[in-house]
Amino acid sequence: MSTPKFRIAICGGGVGGLTLAVALSRYPDIVVDVYEAAQSFYEVGAGLGIWPRSFKVLRKLGHDLERQLIQRCGYEFTEGYVPCIKHRKSDQTVGFQLFDLVTKGNQMRFHRADFHGVLLSHLSPSCTTYNAKRLKSYIQPRSRKSPIKLIFQDGSTATCDILIGADGIKSAVRSCMMRELAEVVGPYEKQSVLSCINPVWSGVTAYRTLIPAEKLRARCPNHRVFAGGITQYLGKDAFFLAYPISLGKYINIAGFTLQPDLVNTAYEADPRVPRRSFQGKADSDWVGELTAEQFVEPFKDFEEDAKQLLKCVERGTLWAVHTVKTLPSTNFGRVALLGDAAHAMLPFQGAGAGQSIEDAYLLATVLGHKATTLDTVPRALAIYDKLRRPFSSDVALRSRFNGQLCALQTNVPLHRLGNTVTKNWDWAWLTELDDALEEAVKLVENSSINIG
Ligand SMILES: Cc1cc2nc3c(=O)[nH]c(=O)nc-3n(C[C@H](O)[C@H](O)[C@H](O)COP(=O)(O)OP(=O)(O)OC[C@H]3O[C@@H](n4cnc5c(N)ncnc54)[C@H](O)[C@@H]3O)c2cc1C
Repeated sequence: MSTPKFRIAICGGGVGGLTLAVALSRYPDIVVDVYEAAQSFYEVGAGLGIWPRSFKVLRKLGHDLERQLIQRCGYEFTEGYVPCIKHRKSDQTVGFQLFDLVTKGNQMRFHRADFHGVLLSHLSPSCTTYNAKRLKSYIQPRSRKSPIKLIFQDGSTATCDILIGADGIKSAVRSCMMRELAEVVGPYEKQSVLSCINPVWSGVTAYRTLIPAEKLRARCPNHRVFAGGITQYLGKDAFFLAYPISLGKYINIAGFTLQPDLVNTAYEADPRVPRRSFQGKADSDWVGELTAEQFVEPFKDFEEDAKQLLKCVERGTLWAVHTVKTLPSTNFGRVALLGDAAHAMLPFQGAGAGQSIEDAYLLATVLGHKATTLDTVPRALAIYDKLRRPFSSDVALRSRFNGQLCALQTNVPLHRLGNTVTKNWDWAWLTELDDALEEAVKLVENSSINIG
């Protein structure tokens, strides 16, 4: 290979980091290093749903990757209107169907480990991956000719021309970037910028588990979850959803409790729940191991149909769901953030991973473009920020509202819930990233256009 145009370090090999690495593989003049904190790239034990808007972005990564994803899913992607999520009123002895969320195009659902596996198998030889490399901080010299220095927790160092922080909600890159930014803003904004370093608790607690489908089948052969699609069991202040994954081998269950009075307070872990490691860090306060009894507690008065599922739960994990405040910027010089590092949001529209995929693709488009050189990287990253940050911030707001709707915490009457939920969510299947991609290319090619 001739001299590369630049060397990009991606910190974090999750959904967004690996998507970026695959998207950059199409540009042979870019060398990529992925540094992942965990010992392995495979996160196990959870489901991942991707909406049509973001799945269409994954399709752009090539036919073979799309074919493998569809194989893992066990069903084809369709563009037509399909019933997708059944919503039931369930916090009572006899529940009832509220509405079916109908989407244009189906949601593609994966086991996370399967999803990561497909991305990893599509990395190009110009991409090197490293495990057990937790970034601690970086130093970005003013001069674009001098490389950025990466400092890892194990004491080792590395260099790169461009650094992308895809290191999730507790991002070390965000922490450094906000400190850099705070140095160049006025005294009034400084505190506000620094307040974006730490995630904030949303008052939401998530309960996640997988149950073997066979176990449910033995107890309840005609359970509605076997019909496919997602079923959401709604109740006041708590709800859960269930759907089959891994070719029907498991049923993924994700439950939530929402405590509005605790939004933005410090999360206090329940001493009865043992802690579990999170993103490679042991004893995280946010993640705990639940017994079956602890898992079902918030939903114990739900209808029979819901109880049949909950009786199959063997154990689960509890997640104190945190979010990242809307950032003043997702780029600074030659460093940018993507995915949860930039906009960790509530999971109520199943959109966080999709948003990190969209970030990754647009970022690869601006960085890979032949008009982008080391000198124009800051402009390319500013274009990315301009086109992605408002969109992902809006999705974060919509996701929060959807949680409130599903936890029956709004004034919307039950008979209007279906309409309200649909209107708030249809961006995920009625819109596409393509307009932003087109705009990005136009801005990269016309350096005279002010990007503000
Ligand atoms: C209960 C729940 C259900 C969800 N369901 C869905 C869904 O169905 N669909 C959807 O789109 N989204 C869903 N999400 C959100 C989704 O999981 C995230 O938005 C998505 O994983 C973000 O991808 P990412 O690449 O930005 O971060 P991550 O996937 O979190 O990856 C970050 C990576 O960085 C690594 N890392 C962390 N710190 C460092 C460091 N200092 N140095 C190096 N590496 C580091 C981590 O080990 C990790 O591999 C859900 C979230 C929750 C909580």
